[in-house]
Amino acid sequence: MPVVTRFAPSPTGYLHIGGARTALFNWLFARHHAEHGDGGKFLLRIEDTDRARSTDDAVRAILDGLTWFGLDWDGDAISQFDRKDRHRAVAEAMLASGHAYRCYCTPEELAAMREDAKAKGLKKMYDGRWRDRDPALAPAGVLPTIRLKAPTEGATEIEDLVQGRVEIANDQLDDMVLLRGDGTPTYMLAVVVDDHDMGVTHVIRGDDHLVNAFRQRQIFDGMGWAVPEFAHIPLIHGSDGAKLSKRHGALGIDAYRDMGYLPEALRNYLLRLGWSHGDDEIISTEQAIEWFDLGAIGRGAAKLDFAKLDSVNGHYIRQADDARLAALVIERLAAGHDGQLAEEALNRVKMGMGGLKERAKTISELSENALFYAVRRPIAINEKARQMLDADGRGHLMAIRNTLGNTGEWSEPQLHQIAESYAASHELKLGKVAQPLRAALTGSNVSPGIFEVMAVLGRDETLGRLDDVL
Ligand code: GLU
Repeated sequence: MPVVTRFAPSPTGYLHIGGARTALFNWLFARHHAEHGDGGKFLLRIEDTDRARSTDDAVRAILDGLTWFGLDWDGDAISQFDRKDRHRAVAEAMLASGHAYRCYCTPEELAAMREDAKAKGLKKMYDGRWRDRDPALAPAGVLPTIRLKAPTEGATEIEDLVQGRVEIANDQLDDMVLLRGDGTPTYMLAVVVDDHDMGVTHVIRGDDHLVNAFRQRQIFDGMGWAVPEFAHIPLIHGSDGAKLSKRHGALGIDAYRDMGYLPEALRNYLLRLGWSHGDDEIISTEQAIEWFDLGAIGRGAAKLDFAKLDSVNGHYIRQADDARLAALVIERLAAGHDGQLAEEALNRVKMGMGGLKERAKTISELSENALFYAVRRPIAINEKARQMLDADGRGHLMAIRNTLGNTGEWSEPQLHQIAESYAASHELKLGKVAQPLRAALTGSNVSPGIFEVMAVLGRDETLGRLDDVL
């Protein structure tokens, strides 16, 4: 049977980091099977039945987030709310087949039952009083709900592809509501009907949904539908092992983009967070599609580790195309300059990207490091750089400035050569000349190779910046 997975976010907020990983696993599993010729579709369902909490902005944020993250879905996104008539029809079909019944309990009765169950420490909140009661006894004016006639004996089992075999005794589950008195479906019913109708073969989602799987299985069974395979993946925890909170990085994927992570780096990092292929840390998306399987998902909670994410991101920055990185950096730098950046500043950032990208772990860091290429003279000099521009340092700059002014060829090797011979003739280490140059030209004590910087800045800008400090 062709593999069909789905991602089913509720549009009550942004696409958070845990949701992004769930989507990634579903996408990889589907793409893996597509590559191997046995079908493979990744569907997107927006679970927007909670009308009070679902917003169009959230839907957009989720679609944008998935797109930025590089996950494409097959066909159009499906709105769960749009399918409410179908959900209702299924509830009525279960009523007709005797797998469900109408319950006429008033809200007061239900509240009393809940209190009673709590006081007695019972799991079942509903005592099943309308299960076998004659509907002729229905009180006037109460809109009935439709409840599942759930099995009362034995157990409901799930053969989970990550958690293994799990079961719950049926006397622990009460007859759940499928359709509310106002005719709207409950979440449990909607999920099952949609998963069935969409032909979902594998439900891969956070293990916070494991308890729902038992109830959902009962609905599948009630309808006589094939139960999909389940794979409940452990949630992501904070670096200290505690439940993920904002402080740990429980943020929207847009926040990760703003912090300067590349989508391919985040894919690699989130893949490794809970899934492994030997000791491999760097796994390209192509490799991931080739290798991904559900059996290698770990059972323990994965811990979000920013140091590791940074190092993976640094790897992908070094691999990324210079023009693409320059565009990302320029967008950030321009934002700090009212959108205006001089043409020459743009060119310098592009030309200097080769050296810049060797050192940065995020696009934010890369942008900060690139700033000196974009700023206008006279540039700001930081404290550490200022210390290099002492009398000695300035003396060397003064001397070398004249040679630079007269040199014919302005290239990295040529500039390197000039500094080398100046240092040799004065019996200095190259650093004695390179550091004051770096300080004057970049305003900092750290930068890409200084002769590369000079080549990128060009003769006029280099000499101008030297004159500014001299
Ligand atoms: N809509 C649910 C959520 O956002 C997911 C339901 C499911 O995957 O079955 O958590």
